[in-house]
Amino acid sequence: MEKSAKIYIAGHTGLVGSAILRSLQAQGYSRFLLRTIEELDLTKQSLVESLMQQEKPDYVFLAAAKVGGIHANNSYPADFIYINLQIQTNIIHAAYQSVVKKLCFLGSSCIYPKFAPQPIKEDSFLDGKLEPTNEPYAIAKIAGIEMCQAYNRQYGTNYISVMPTNLYGLHDNFDLKSSHVLPALIRKFIEARKDGAPSVTVWGTGSPKREFLFVDDLADACVFLMNHYDDSEIVNIGVGEDVKILELAKIIKEEVEYNGTIVFDSTKPDGTPQKLLDVSKIHQLGWKAKTPLREGIRKTIQWYLENK
Ligand code: GDP
Repeated sequence: MEKSAKIYIAGHTGLVGSAILRSLQAQGYSRFLLRTIEELDLTKQSLVESLMQQEKPDYVFLAAAKVGGIHANNSYPADFIYINLQIQTNIIHAAYQSVVKKLCFLGSSCIYPKFAPQPIKEDSFLDGKLEPTNEPYAIAKIAGIEMCQAYNRQYGTNYISVMPTNLYGLHDNFDLKSSHVLPALIRKFIEARKDGAPSVTVWGTGSPKREFLFVDDLADACVFLMNHYDDSEIVNIGVGEDVKILELAKIIKEEVEYNGTIVFDSTKPDGTPQKLLDVSKIHQLGWKAKTPLREGIRKTIQWYLENK
């Protein structure tokens, strides 16, 4: 991507999009096409097509999506499939119509089968049944990958698809009902310390394992791949190691300096037992995550305290 290129970041106010914007700005890019959700409803095809025809961006990062944790996915499955299919279909097709040079589609590690061999290699894609708690979201993301590949095949476009592991960082969603585990626990421990509560409740059994990638590292990886990767095959982005939810809770407890106890709510689902990505492909391409978990958690706690 030339430094003078016009770059559209769909979803620039969200966790991923805001990090991509920071990363591009830090690397000297300055021509951006940005629209908030109030300015442009991405589920409306004609609006998306008009924007792309008028503005003709050179590159597109498709980071707009309806996202959420295990409870939100379980409670609003229709919204997760409908909104995500609409947004990505509108943007990918409009990118083709307006002759965008390259597009980066943000997928998710939940596109992989529930019982895929760990760590999960890219070739586990479409090799088994999905985790039921987020299947509608995963199916939408799978359709997005297929769509990028189909456009590349039929129209000779250059659309890449990246599969991030669980993300966290600045501008995350800290709403306890709809967020993912890491921001939820940051909020719960901070509030428990403030209120002098005797314990913090962690959902499920604490034994599932998850891999956590600091979102600024993900953004760097996306920009790196836009500059160095031209292939339809998906690429995993992660750190290559995971922790038990209980271990994660203990780290956050320490960082927040909370002195109470941790209790479990076993009426809440555990979800998939493990979701660790094999990151050898992106390592071979020349990129590695930089931020250790504890450091990323510290930065996220600081952001939460300053902004929430
Ligand atoms: P997932 O990776 O799609 O399963 O999504 P989550 O990040 O929401 O959940 C990951 C794991 O953390 C699951 O086993 C949850 O049950 C567990 N968990 C523990 N406490 C919480 C919490 O307060 N909020 C959320 N969202 N998950 C929690």
